[in-house]
Amino acid sequence: MKSFHELEYVRPDLKAFIRTSEAQLEQFEQAGDYEQARQALLAMQKAESSLGTMLTIAMVRNTIDTRDSFYEGEAEFLNEQLPTLIPVQIRLYQALLKSPFRQDLEQEYGRQLMTNAETALKTQDPAIMQDKAEEAKLSHAYQKLTASCQTEFDGQTVNFYGLLKHMEDTDRQHRQAACQAWAALYEDNAPELDRLFDQLTAVRVRMATTLGYDSYTDLAYLDRQRTDYTSEDAATFRRQILDVVVPFCTELRQRQARRLGVDRVKYYDEALLFPEGNPQPAADKDQMIRHAQTMYREMSPESADFFNFMVDHQLFDLDTKPGKRMGGYCTSLSDWKAPFIFSNFNGTSADVDVLTHEAGHSFAYYLASREQPLNEYEFSTSEINEIHSMTMEHFAYPWMDRFFGEQADRYRYLHLSQALLYLPYMVCVDEFQHEVYAHPEMGAQGRREIWRQLEKRYMPWRDYDGIDFLEQGGFWMQKQHIFSSPFYYIEYALAQMGAFEFYGRMKIDQAQAWQDYLTLCRAGGSRSYVELLKVAGLANPFENGSVAKAVQHVIDELRQHPLH
Ligand SMILES: [Zn+2]
Repeated sequence: MKSFHELEYVRPDLKAFIRTSEAQLEQFEQAGDYEQARQALLAMQKAESSLGTMLTIAMVRNTIDTRDSFYEGEAEFLNEQLPTLIPVQIRLYQALLKSPFRQDLEQEYGRQLMTNAETALKTQDPAIMQDKAEEAKLSHAYQKLTASCQTEFDGQTVNFYGLLKHMEDTDRQHRQAACQAWAALYEDNAPELDRLFDQLTAVRVRMATTLGYDSYTDLAYLDRQRTDYTSEDAATFRRQILDVVVPFCTELRQRQARRLGVDRVKYYDEALLFPEGNPQPAADKDQMIRHAQTMYREMSPESADFFNFMVDHQLFDLDTKPGKRMGGYCTSLSDWKAPFIFSNFNGTSADVDVLTHEAGHSFAYYLASREQPLNEYEFSTSEINEIHSMTMEHFAYPWMDRFFGEQADRYRYLHLSQALLYLPYMVCVDEFQHEVYAHPEMGAQGRREIWRQLEKRYMPWRDYDGIDFLEQGGFWMQKQHIFSSPFYYIEYALAQMGAFEFYGRMKIDQAQAWQDYLTLCRAGGSRSYVELLKVAGLANPFENGSVAKAVQHVIDELRQHPLH
């Protein structure tokens, strides 16, 4: 494989792809024996993988420089044309389920292939294609609107991200002013955001009705391939977070107030854990990559191979540059079984998290793609994928001295307490969405009231210092997932349970923890969520008592920490 920037991109011929797929499908459907069916299926997989590779190259290059009109054009073309592949996809699912060789297929590849096909057929239907396109358009409008929002602060033009960074400043008045500007920017845009969300809710409810579901929640669960748990299970999990995690988070906020020397932590104090400032990496980008390479070499032979591969083929783009899209992600070039990491380094500890979190996703893909025979088994759903990435953050703790020097202990305390502090917020976002889609007619005012109620329950320490818009429940609209990825979010909280369990295992038997982690990564998406938990010996987070079991050692460690 060449370096990423040397890879040649050729616009995929989608019409030709459809013709070939149809021919292969016919071979699959008319196969005289299992071997013929199997070969046809693998041929389809290979074609899909080549197409996917070209899509990824175009997408990555487009996000690296959104001003490059060639890749902007390619991205537009592909986004517009990709829905034309859906009928072939549906036909393949139907063919798999009807195949006379279904038993042989299940014996070789496991049942998950069929479960995926069954689930997809329940949600992919030509009858809702127009609504799907409408939903994508509205979601894009939301992203465009929030990306273009800016205001003047401290003599600079800043966006939401810029203001959040000011909310980590060591000067309290500065943080307060940044918070007021941040809330004002949301308030200015609230009518438009509410309008977009009303439309999104309407189109989602319409799709559910068209497909015969009682509520959008049922459709969303299937869309997210939740075959192992229901909204009642999610409620059980939230209850456990409320009982076990929320009281300790309240204690964490009290400790934080004492450290910062304030009466109580206001919203604009929440991000600052230490009065002298949050820990910052003591290295530039190239040094950090070298540190990461050393870390992965020392961690294990598997992680050493993986990271050397990333460096040899230049499979990351980490710097912030003009024209580059915000955020970070991990994706894959299927033809070469090569992961790719995209991020915007900004000199904070988040840069190190990219080299552990996104690298954890990449490492899991690197292993699973070399182990699993089917493309769709290379990744699992987020409940598992986020265990891969979050667990790697914990495995990396012993090497944080390299990245943070004397501030390493502060980083570890910050990282561990934030992992707990995010949980109540995540389940709050989850319950909010269940409420919104149970009563889609509630409107803007109703949403604010529900949000404020839930916030008081899950984050009783939250204090907006009298900022009216936030006191009235406006905070929910800063959560991108609620607009663009409905019901996603609780998956991070579920995955954190697995990562905490792994972390507990590391403290007792590092070698065993690593072996169990490798087993989970290699299994990719070859089984369902709960089955994969069993493969790794992890508890089912919906069972009562499992949350306490996963987090107790973390609470104990933080309580004994000298910085607490
Ligand atoms: Zn992730």
